[in-house]
Amino acid sequence: MYLFAHIGYTFLAVELVFIFIYIFKKLSGKNLVKVHWGIRYVSFYALLLGSLGPDIIDKAISLPITGNGRYIGHSILFDIIVSLVVLAVFWKNKRIWIGFIVGWQIHMILDTGGFMPWLFPFVSYEFPERTLSYWEMFQLPSVYLNEIFGIVSLIVVVVLYLHRKLPLLDVLKEDFSKQPSYLITIDKNRKNI
Ligand SMILES: [Zn+2]
Repeated sequence: MYLFAHIGYTFLAVELVFIFIYIFKKLSGKNLVKVHWGIRYVSFYALLLGSLGPDIIDKAISLPITGNGRYIGHSILFDIIVSLVVLAVFWKNKRIWIGFIVGWQIHMILDTGGFMPWLFPFVSYEFPERTLSYWEMFQLPSVYLNEIFGIVSLIVVVVLYLHRKLPLLDVLKEDFSKQPSYLITIDKNRKNI
């Protein structure tokens, strides 16, 4: 899976979870006093980085060595180590560690259709060498259709944010803050979900 599919599916999945939580709470008669969307609970940049993390590690470091784009970055061991390190470093800002770890897990789930060295380095794998060029791979329906759906997913998420009057520029500026001001303001107004 490639760039837009990973990013688009990840952001859409996170928002869908919160839409379901919102509907469930509404149906059970709860009076909602907070803004309920994924970006409240997860940092935008951390989710973005986590959603691409395994590929950044492997395509940059391992691809020239093994000829395959999935290596240690796509193993369970590395997943656990990187999650624990991010958890420890950003313990006080849970939007960051939740975003990064959730993004990383969704990447691993989305990659399950192909070869995955889950138990590397405890099991020795025959890393299948990539025979098609990037452009040849991009012409496969399974690749370009997922990229198109990924872009559509991203558009859906952006439309959702705009519909909820989420100030996207403020999100990008204040994303690493523990209490971004746009959430506090919108909570006070309680005009949006
Ligand atoms: Zn991957």
